[in-house]
This record gives sequence, structure tokens and C-alpha cells, in this order.
Amino acid sequence: MTLPVLIIGAGLGGVCLAQALKKNNIPFRLFEQDEKSTFRAQGYRLRVTKHGVDALKEALTPELFTLFEKTCADTPTIGVRIKPDGTHLPSTGGFGPPPGVHSKSYTVDRSTFREALLTGLEEHVFFGKSLKQYTIHSEKVTAFFADGSTEDGSLLIGADGVRSMVRKQYLPSFQGIDTGTRIIFGKTPSTPDFLAKLKEEYRHGMSLVLDPEDASQPFVLFESINFPYAEEITEPQLPDPYMYWVLCTQISQLPITREKSWHISSQESANLSRELTRSWSPSLRAIFEMQNSSQSAIRSILSAMPEIAPWEPSSRVTLLGDAIHVMPPTGAMGANTALRDAADLARRISLAGSVDGVDKAVIGDYEASLRDFANTAIEQSWQGGMKSFGLKPVEQCEMIAL
Ligand SMILES: Cc1cc2nc3c(=O)[nH]c(=O)nc-3n(C[C@H](O)[C@H](O)[C@H](O)COP(=O)(O)OP(=O)(O)OC[C@H]3O[C@@H](n4cnc5c(N)ncnc54)[C@H](O)[C@@H]3O)c2cc1C
Repeated sequence: MTLPVLIIGAGLGGVCLAQALKKNNIPFRLFEQDEKSTFRAQGYRLRVTKHGVDALKEALTPELFTLFEKTCADTPTIGVRIKPDGTHLPSTGGFGPPPGVHSKSYTVDRSTFREALLTGLEEHVFFGKSLKQYTIHSEKVTAFFADGSTEDGSLLIGADGVRSMVRKQYLPSFQGIDTGTRIIFGKTPSTPDFLAKLKEEYRHGMSLVLDPEDASQPFVLFESINFPYAEEITEPQLPDPYMYWVLCTQISQLPITREKSWHISSQESANLSRELTRSWSPSLRAIFEMQNSSQSAIRSILSAMPEIAPWEPSSRVTLLGDAIHVMPPTGAMGANTALRDAADLARRISLAGSVDGVDKAVIGDYEASLRDFANTAIEQSWQGGMKSFGLKPVEQCEMIAL
């Protein structure tokens, strides 16, 4: 009997892989540590660009791809570039989404996107399953979960994000980079009260707030998110319109320690964002004051090394997404690269005839291609981050065990 592929982590990459395996009739089971899909504030907006779109077209059925398209928000154009006091900065030819984002790209709410990608996987996904470790036998791999249960599979895929347990065991010496940058992201519902306080010019496009003369001030990017198919699509339910914002600063500018920055609550993140912008113009301050505090979260901007070192492949275990190539979000490439990995891996398993045909060479080729693509994406993300968001060069950042 063919044992299933065990996917650890129902984030964007893991769920996309699950859909692609389902489409190719390859048996799989998907395990997620969270108790349910809406467990944490995960709703930042993402741009799905060419490689992500190609991967989704390959992984999803045509019906599911149409559902995906209808759950997307409008993609904005250029917004304003202003200082915290609201004065305009000299034009640099406009500020907007990264190059290439407009054609063939989609703007998604991460939670909604994930919900859409989970469609039809109900029988295959198991929440509340946190992987602790795995063991490899000659014919199978066994996953051990925190609740004491175990699962046997033919292949185990670590799609378990930046702190991947699978990677910790598979590549124990893997090191990453703490850029020292922290972001707080959140949502402010586009209520009539909020819109009355917001300048008209802030309502359209992707805008940036920065103070070139005061490095202590955070960078803020904000963008109105509206779902054109909100009335037509009921499953998943699309969010009401909101203002997405992300505030970017250095850990040295925050009144908290590095350790604390890894564990603060939504309410504390929201308070911090209000504190950091308290001297800003009233219209900009409204974005933070009127936010939905339960949707706020802080993230450390971590990265894999720009050149991921090769490793000896296994025939039973591999990785995808942030688990192996986390990168700064400044290139809008992390999820796109995870989706690309997922479609590529599913294609290779399918071409092997079945999961039983997957050997070290198949996994080795997949991992070589993953590194190739990810190295370029990481490089682009750093370039974007250094140009627009004050990211320090790699040499000035700290190496850490992820
Ligand atoms: C503010 C922000 C904006 C971004 N914007 C963009 C963008 O515009 N475009 C883009 O391409 N990328 C963007 N990114 C990056 C993108 O979000 C990530 O690269 C992407 O989500 C990675 O997907 P993943 O599936 O690899 O990991 P994740 O989405 O992190 O999923 C990992 C999953 O594994 C689960 N898990 C972890 N450990 C275990 C365990 N032991 N057992 C079981 N389950 C486990 C987690 O709970 C999680 O559900 C952005 C990131 C941020 C923070």
C-alpha cells in the first residue's frame, strides 16, 4: 500500500502543495499546529506575482483558481510619499508596488487566501497537530506529534515556516540572519468615521510615510483594501474594506527587548504602533488609533543567507517555503517562492509515476532548483529592503540559529 505524503504546516506553501497533490491523485495528509485556520492575526496583505500565479494555475483546478481570483482585492497603483507631519516628499517618479506587480498580479488578504486554498481539503487537513520530530526507516518516515500521536508516510515535507522543526532536524547547522528590523502590521476598518478623518489622497494607491532626516522615525506603508466580489462570494466570506498598514522600524528604536519582540500580543503590538506614531499628523495618526487591535502583530524580519549552501538530499524528507528560504518581505517574493516550490515539488512527484518512485535524485533535483530560485529572490528582497525600508546590509546583521 502506498503511504501518503505527510505535509507539515498548513501555511500558504503547504496548502498549495496539498491542492497540487490532490489534483494529481497523490495521497497526502496535511498537519497544522494551530487549532484552527483563524488562530492568530495572520491577515496581512500579500502580492501574488507571476511565479505565484503560474504555480497556482498549475496546482489548482480551474474552478478553484477562479475562486482564488474572486477572493482577491483590487491591486492599487501609486500612492503618495509623505513625511510623518503629512508634508509631501519630492517625487522620485512615484512610489508604488514593486516592478512587475501590476501585470498578472493579485492582491490578497493572507487569511482569506489561505481559507480559499483550504477549499476541498477538509478530509485531508488535521489541525492541532504540532510536529516534534520524525524518524526515517528504510521504507517509510514516521512523524511524531506533540499530542503523542504518530503518522507513517512515504515522504515528509517541512512546510512549517521560519522556525521549522523539520529543518532543525534535517539541517541542524542551518543559520539565518536577524536583520534587526521589526515590522508591526495591522488593519483599520474603513468605517465612515475613519474615512472622515483620512485625507482623500490617502485613500487610493500604496502610500509610504518616511522621514529622510530622522532615522528614528519608522517607515510606514499603507494601502486601502477592497474586495470587488464581496457580494458574490460567500465561502470564504470576504472581509469588509480596510486600510492595511505595515510599520517598519529597528529593534533599537523599540522600548522592548529582542526577546520580548518575539512574544508580544496583538494588543501590545497595536499599542506600540500608536506610541511610535503619536507625534504624526492627525490624519495619519487615525490609521493607528482607529485600528482593529486584535488584527495587529509584530514580526522580526529574518532571512536565510543570500546564498543558501547545498546539502546532501534525503529520499524521505524535504522542505519548502519559509522553512528553508525565509526572506525580507520587501521584495514581495516569500509566498510567491513558497507557491513555486509547492507546484514544482508536486510536478516532480507526479512525473516520478507515484510517490513510491521518488528517490534521492528526484529530491536532490527539486532542492537544487529551489536553491537556485530562492537565492535570486532573497537577493532581490534585500535590494528592495535596503533601497526603500532602511534594511542594513547583510554584513552588518546578526547570524542566528533560526
Ligand atoms: C507583513 C508581511 C508581508 C508580506 N508580503 C508578501 C508579499 O506581498 N508577497 C510574498 O510573496 N510574500 C510576502 N510575505 C512573505 C510570506 O508571507 C511568507 O513567505 C509565506 O507566508 C511563507 O509561506 P510558508 O507556507 O512557507 O510558511 P507559513 O505561511 O509561515 O506557514 C507555516 C505553517 O506551518 C505551521 N507550523 C509551524 N510549525 C509547525 C509544526 N511543528 N507542526 C505543524 N505545523 C507547524 C504554522 O502554524 C504555519 O501555519 C510577507 C510577509 C509579511 C510578514
